[in-house]
Amino acid sequence: MKRKVFIRYSSQKAEEPILASVIKESGLLVNILYANITGKGGEILISFDASEAEMDRILTLFREKGVEVWETERTIELDRELCFDCGACISVCPTKALRLNQDFSLELNEEKCICCEVCVSMCPVRALRISSKL
Ligand code: SF4
Ligand code: SF4
Repeated sequence: MKRKVFIRYSSQKAEEPILASVIKESGLLVNILYANITGKGGEILISFDASEAEMDRILTLFREKGVEVWETERTIELDRELCFDCGACISVCPTKALRLNQDFSLELNEEKCICCEVCVSMCPVRALRISSKL
């Protein structure tokens, strides 16, 4: 099952190779969707395939290394009926999950979305909303 996991680093943990250690210990094949980390801390969003039991083990590995970590099951939804492709939501998206296609229609890449909700308030017609997959 495809999982999306958010990892938040404090300034004390920012320079430790925590993600690399978990990958090595777990044998995970990880896709990094978003990373914004400096010496002051930051965040990384990753995706990977894992069963429920594997997921528990991976979250425990991260927590043992002192970072905040959680699985995100929220997702962004685009209402195609409402969207008129104005592009106002694109520039505020920190992960470039939103872009205009060659035909100038809005494209949403759910894989890249970290559900920060910034785009939701930018949309004049409320065509974007956060929902849970569960
Ligand atoms: S919620 Fe919107 S702004 Fe935030 S990452 Fe997802 S698409 Fe981009
Ligand atoms: S701001 Fe709203 S209407 Fe404009 S492109 Fe984005 S989703 Fe569509």
